[in-house]
Amino acid sequence: MMEQFAQVALPVPLAKTFDYRIGENQHPIIGGRVKVPFGRQHKVGIVTGLSATASVDASQLKVLDAVLDTQPVWTPGVYHLLHWASRFYHHPLGDAMGAVMPTLLRKGRPAALQQQKWWQITESGQNQPLSGLSRAPKQARVLQLLTHGPATHADLIEQDIGAPVLKTVAEKGWIAPYTPPLNAQAWQPHFAVTEDKPALNHEQAMAVATINANDGFACALLEGITGSGKTEVYLNVLEPVLARGEQALILVPEIGLTPQTIRRFERRFHVPVTVMHSGLNDNDRLKAWLAARENQAAIVIGTRSALFTPMANLGIIIIDEEHDPSYKQQDSFRYHARDLAVMRGHEEKVPVILGSATPSLESLHNAKTGKYQYLKLTQRPGNAVTARQGILDIKGHYLDAGLSAPLIAEMRQHLQQGNQVMLFLNRRGYAPAMMCHECGWLANCQRCDAYYTLHQQQQELRCHHCGHQKPVPHQCHDCGSTQLISVGVGTEQLESQLGELFPEYKTVRIDRDNTRRKGSLETYLNGIEKGEYQILLGTQMLAKGHHFPNVTLVALVDVDGALFSNDFRAPERLAQLMVQVAGRAGRASKPGTVLLQTHHPEHSLIQSLVHKGYQAFAESALTERRQAWLPPYTFLSLFRAEGHEENSVQQFLQQVRQTLAASPIQHDESHVMGPMPAAMAKRAGRYRWQLLIQAPSRKVMQQWLTVALPAVHQLPLSRKVRWSLDVEPQDL
Ligand code: ADP
Ligand code: ZN
Ligand code: ZN
Repeated sequence: MMEQFAQVALPVPLAKTFDYRIGENQHPIIGGRVKVPFGRQHKVGIVTGLSATASVDASQLKVLDAVLDTQPVWTPGVYHLLHWASRFYHHPLGDAMGAVMPTLLRKGRPAALQQQKWWQITESGQNQPLSGLSRAPKQARVLQLLTHGPATHADLIEQDIGAPVLKTVAEKGWIAPYTPPLNAQAWQPHFAVTEDKPALNHEQAMAVATINANDGFACALLEGITGSGKTEVYLNVLEPVLARGEQALILVPEIGLTPQTIRRFERRFHVPVTVMHSGLNDNDRLKAWLAARENQAAIVIGTRSALFTPMANLGIIIIDEEHDPSYKQQDSFRYHARDLAVMRGHEEKVPVILGSATPSLESLHNAKTGKYQYLKLTQRPGNAVTARQGILDIKGHYLDAGLSAPLIAEMRQHLQQGNQVMLFLNRRGYAPAMMCHECGWLANCQRCDAYYTLHQQQQELRCHHCGHQKPVPHQCHDCGSTQLISVGVGTEQLESQLGELFPEYKTVRIDRDNTRRKGSLETYLNGIEKGEYQILLGTQMLAKGHHFPNVTLVALVDVDGALFSNDFRAPERLAQLMVQVAGRAGRASKPGTVLLQTHHPEHSLIQSLVHKGYQAFAESALTERRQAWLPPYTFLSLFRAEGHEENSVQQFLQQVRQTLAASPIQHDESHVMGPMPAAMAKRAGRYRWQLLIQAPSRKVMQQWLTVALPAVHQLPLSRKVRWSLDVEPQDL
């Protein structure tokens, strides 16, 4: 029977597909794009089914505007992964697909690589005596270059030959377009290892052998401090994969995608490496994406969303810094790229490697219970010593812009020896609050449950939560006093104080305010590498992905916030940051020191980390998690709701709670907590509440949500408040 109807997943927030009639001479395919009328608009969607009958009255259905593809957008592996993720995260399929598709494809652009233009010399061109072209040297050069064989248009342009010259020579009939044989550009025949490899140490060799022995899917956790040789393991594992002609997908955190990282892979192998990150323009993104799908890229390195890149012949997936929170998408389609990578590896039957110096407690748990292979690198090649760690108790100490006297003395010592010093302070701006000295009034954002941050340079108060900014007031809002003072220390203040304390040394500040301009981060990093700066000051941004061999002292200026956060992952994050920075300090000839300033030197987290290391910390943190019924021992989902009317927000979540409780799937070990106000109870004028649900297994969680969600969507208030469901949230 003829298929007359197409089911189309559209980028709209509705958990359903839409039926359309197939017009004459239209040949839609499953997984391919179509353009359709939708309300008063036209949208591009993905065909997810074809049928002979429609689910509604066929005469009501509109006809497809156009069929855009003759082959599916994604490979079967990614297509199935998207279906799975849509169910698991309870996010509408069409919206999820739209979110991970290159923008230009979503706009209907053809999904085909622009074929490169090639030129070849003609017989008439060959017969031209070059001496006759002395007045047209560029034309002569074209002919000369092409006598060695065909060349691409782009290559010729790169030789300083303008497009008009090529046009002229072509018009004279001396050169003509050339079509290269299909596989001339394929990388496989040209694969080669292009640099000397170090001999692996025993642990590295074991890791490589274990991973390479896998046939099909397996997940390995590769744990090793910075410099222990994880990347070298990746490179060794990639070699046989690429040699077989298969492709590799490598995910790194946004901030870790540095030119150094990319160069590492380019240097080792003679294969095309494609990079996908948020900074690409739409055109380049589509090109990179298509190159991966058409097997013209051998290695794809990208950030979170690159996980969904279709690859013709995928052979391995590597997730570097697997613990990094940036792998979790924080809005709309809230997927976790690491978890989905494991799913993708399973689906496509290829091995997955999760690498980290500080594995997430989830992955550690999976490794310890045998679900993942557990591979450890404990030595640093070259016998580099690990950093000495110390705690600075600042209780009752005078602080100079956040720095204690012992820390300043230690800094001076390292600087005088010609080394660099690195300071972390996770608070940008000049001061996190501004206060009246007379009455204690604090300048707070009217739209948020938060204080304004003072930005001295711009003479502005800024709310870091809703973006609101206004000039610094001259008078207290309450008592009219002009004695306004700043409270606390941000990076901007610390920077200016460092200028006073250490006038003979140069400080560079790296935070979001200071690196907004494109290329500025690279400029600073280059300056650090060249030794133009001696003091490096920054937020978390500075901790990740960069190597600073001349830094011998690292200080965490204020760690107390993380010790007493209401997010149960805050200690884990602090521990990861501490190990990360310790790994950046020093090298073989110059051992490093890491110092923490805290008011709570006795805190068990700090004690176990500093004296026993991440492993011991992780052990005790896992024990705590088990006792508190927290992940990875249970599974969480979070309903968030916000609105201008606090009552409706709270009431809506109360109704969600009742809906969940009424579900037949209710399980003894499942719990609903809340509604309770979010950590930031008001933001941009909206009140924010949340409802946390907990289940003993993913399966129970999924059944519960699947049964309850349709009823939640039926609640009248669900259309009045803004709400979302975050399955396995990373931030509470
Ligand atoms: P990680 O990725 O864990 O930070 P890398 O793989 O980058 O570690 O290794 C750190 C440094 O040590 C690099 O310069 C690398 O080339 C070098 N290296 C790694 N493994 C070896 C080895 N087996 N022998 C000698 N040098 C090595
Ligand atoms: Zn605000
Ligand atoms: Zn006042």
